Formats: sequence, structure tokens, C-alpha cells
Amino acid sequence: MLNLSTIDALQQIVGKKNIITDIDILNLYSCDGLRLQSSQPGCVVIPNSTEAVSAIVKCCVKYNTPFVARGSGTGLSGGATSNGGVIIQLSRLNQILEIDISNRLAIIQPGVINAHLSLETMADGLHFAPDPSSQTASTIGGNLAENSGGPHTLKYGVTTNHILGFTMVMPNGNIEKFGSKHRYGTDLDLVGFITGSEGTLGIVTEIIVNLVANPQTTRTFLLTFDSVSHATDCVSAIIKGGVIPSALEMIDNLCIQAVEGKLKVGFPIHAAAILLVELDGDASSTQWETKQLKTITAQFTRHSIEEAKDEVHRQQLWRGRKLAIGAMGFLAPAFYTNDGVVPRHQLTNILEDIYRIGKDHKLKVANLCHAGDGNIHPIILYDPKISGHKDRAFSCSTDILKCCLEYGGSLTGEHGIGTEKVNLMDTMFTSTQLNLMMELREVFDLHSLCNPNKILPTHAGCGEVRNYVH
Ligand SMILES: Cc1cc2nc3c(=O)[nH]c(=O)nc-3n(C[C@H](O)[C@H](O)[C@H](O)COP(=O)(O)OP(=O)(O)OC[C@H]3O[C@@H](n4cnc5c(N)ncnc54)[C@H](O)[C@@H]3O)c2cc1C
Repeated sequence: MLNLSTIDALQQIVGKKNIITDIDILNLYSCDGLRLQSSQPGCVVIPNSTEAVSAIVKCCVKYNTPFVARGSGTGLSGGATSNGGVIIQLSRLNQILEIDISNRLAIIQPGVINAHLSLETMADGLHFAPDPSSQTASTIGGNLAENSGGPHTLKYGVTTNHILGFTMVMPNGNIEKFGSKHRYGTDLDLVGFITGSEGTLGIVTEIIVNLVANPQTTRTFLLTFDSVSHATDCVSAIIKGGVIPSALEMIDNLCIQAVEGKLKVGFPIHAAAILLVELDGDASSTQWETKQLKTITAQFTRHSIEEAKDEVHRQQLWRGRKLAIGAMGFLAPAFYTNDGVVPRHQLTNILEDIYRIGKDHKLKVANLCHAGDGNIHPIILYDPKISGHKDRAFSCSTDILKCCLEYGGSLTGEHGIGTEKVNLMDTMFTSTQLNLMMELREVFDLHSLCNPNKILPTHAGCGEVRNYVH
């Protein structure tokens, strides 16, 4: 519970209408997309300017109260939650401030929904390349904080590759600018350092983003396989064959069943796995890549390649992929999405392990992968009403992540560490590396109030991030 003086002071900054203290409404903020963990915030404040965010943070420092930024709360690692602290909800900071066509950039507020920016720039032949499947809901501030990826990350890179600079309210409340409209800097790359730091180094209130030219030609293919290993082996062969698709996604049978059950987009219901492959560029390069793709694919499947016949068909296929996680509700009352990474050539092995680990835990696991990047998304199905199911889902995911590390992979590709994987950080990093990360964090956040207890493991309670001991 926050004390009344803190609530009063915050109310003076944002006004009575823009502060939430009602317990029932606060419950809505007790988790993000990670439903396995929850914690109740002390209050939610909804500012409408950088200056208001700055005043809120200064107030939190004065009253020694932890605070956390929140975009749309679609994060999948528990990042935008707070145990008793202040959630700073950025949905009112949702303006596109400038679109600079000649310099191919835009200046936006962090609460702009990802897909809205590309809708605004579409007529000018430009788009914002990072395309998380949550792009119709998640904010670009959240994308920046998580360094989000998406199906088109394979060719266009993750969010950090499209952030030129930003204004940030520092953890002491001061307002600082990092980066600029021009694309070259001689300073330390603080923009790169802060991007992906999951809101632990400050609150971003204005962002300069890069815009990418829409491709001249886009061709989208559906590849059908009789076994998962044929699909995953084909992924490596495609890249080895010199084709870099803009997207190369794998969906397994359980996932196909959910998508078809819920959305009916025309995925082959009996396939063991499908690949969704998109090629883009000029007409002659996509023609050459298409030929290569067909030759390579024929070595792994007896099924013929299906090409999206028009834009409507293409959008339908992508709808199946992008809404696949949500479609899991068709198969189970609850599900938990894992985000491990392996080197691409280990995809076949990790998928075999995932099915085995699922069986060991007596849980069904559906699989979606940003296969071209080796970024797996096993979706663990469970029933919260069955005793022990939640815990089994969590330990099933933990076992999968440990396997990823054994293959030389990573705990996260794009969903971040948050609270979800904080206890696994010492399986990936040495104590020296973790201490170094903590020291860097303390340079920004002396009082340990800015989204504490996220990313880095601690041995003490609320707000304490010092002295990690292995
Ligand atoms: C169905 C579904 C599909 C998804 N698909 C993808 C995918 O393909 N790729 C992918 O990468 N992710 C995906 N995600 C995860 C999630 O959508 C992304 O992490 C997204 O970037 C979170 O944005 P948000 O606005 O919801 O942020 P939130 O969940 O509100 O916050 C996420 C983190 O960012 C911090 N934060 C938010 N705004 C700011 C700010 N202005 N300044 C500083 N810190 C801030 C928060 O403190 C928190 O730590 C998916 C999620 C769902 C539910």
C-alpha cells in the first residue's frame, strides 16, 4: 500500500481523473501477458507529457517508492508490473509528432501503437520495420524497452536497428536526450545500451524512429511438411542456399489445429509442420530467390509449394501466423509462451527436446518459431484449475530454456527477462558479468527504484539490486 502523502502528491501532478487507486481496477494491472505471475501495484498514474512523467518520478524518489513504465501490458515476461509501487501508464502519450519523409524517420511519443505508425506512413511508401505479432496492440515504447522482434526481423533486424534516439526521464526525474535525427554518433552507443533494458534505466517519452522503404515486390509461400525435422532442416538449407527471406516462420501441427479451429485461414490441417516464407526486393531478385526456394524445398517435402495468389490471400496467411498465440485458447484454458533461442542449425534438435520435455511434464506443447532466427516459441498448454499444472508449465519452460543454453543459445530472443527468467540469469552469465551489469544499472538508477527486481537476480527484497552473490 502506498501512503496517502504519496498518493496526494501524485494526484496533484496528474489530476484526480488520471490516478487509479481502486483495488478492483488495480487488479487489471497485476500482470502483463505473462499470466503465471502477478503482483498488485500501489497505484497507476496516467501522465500526458514528458514534464509530468518527470514530476512523477521525482515524487517517487522523494517518497522512496518504486515505479515502472507501462505501455499496453502485452509483455510476456512480467516487465510492466509492480509490487506495491507506481505504474506509469503511457497510453496518453500517443501522438505521432513528425513524419520526415526525406530523412525516412518519424518522431513519436512512446504510447503510439506499432501498427498505427506504418498505417500513417504507408501512402508515402515507408513503414516501421519491427513487426511483433502483437503489433496491433503493443506500443513502440514497449517495443523499444523489450528490443522487440517479429517475423521480418530476419531481414530487417530488431527494434534497436530502427531507433535513432529518444528523450528519457532518468530515474532521478531529470530529462535527457540520447541520439539524434542523423544516423552517426561518435559517443558511446547509449541509445543501443538503453534499448532493450526493459524500462530499468529510465522512462522513454519521445522516440526518433527509422522508417524503411516498402519493397517493390513481395512474394509469400506456404510450404507443407510431413515431419517437423524436415521443416527445420529445410530452414537451414534455405539460408545456406543463399536465400535470405524477409520472414521464415515455422508452425507445427498443434498450432495449425488451433489456428484452423479458431481462424480458418487455410493452413493444411494434417501437416506435421508448415513454413511461411516471404521474399521481398526487386522483381528480378525475388524471381531468382523463388527459383532457389523451390529447388531447395523439393529436397525436403513431397508437397508442392503454395504461393499467396493475391494480397488478400497473403494477409490471410499472415493472420494465421500473427494470431496463432491467441488462437491457443481453442485448445486449452491457458497457455504459456516460451522465448528461447538456439543457433539456427540446432532447430531440429531443440524441437525434438521440446516434445520430449513436454511429455516428461505431461503437458502438450505447440510450437511456433521465428525459424530463420532460431527463435523458438513453444506454447505450453495448461489448465490453471488443475492442481500443480501451473508449476509444471513453468518448470517445463525452464527445462526448455536450459536446453537452449546447452546448444549455445539464449534465454530470450525478444520477450525479455522481466521477472519470469530472472532466476535463470546465473545459468547464462557469470557472477562477474552480472555484477558488471548491476554496476552499470546503478550508474543510471542510484536509488534502485526504476523497475526494480527485473532482469537481474537479487538476494534481497524490494528495490535492492546490489551485490549479486553467485
Ligand atoms: C499475442 C502476443 C504476441 C506477441 N508477439 C511478439 C513478437 O512477435 N515479438 C516480440 O518481440 N514480442 C511479442 N510479444 C510481446 C510484447 O508484445 C512485446 O514485448 C511488446 O514490445 C510489449 O509492448 P507493450 O506496449 O505491451 O509493453 P508493456 O508490456 O507495457 O511493457 C514492456 C516493458 O517495457 C517497459 N516500457 C514500456 N514502455 C516504456 C517506456 N516508454 N519507457 C521505458 N520502458 C517502457 C515496461 O516497463 C516493461 O518492462 C507478444 C505478446 C503477445 C501477447
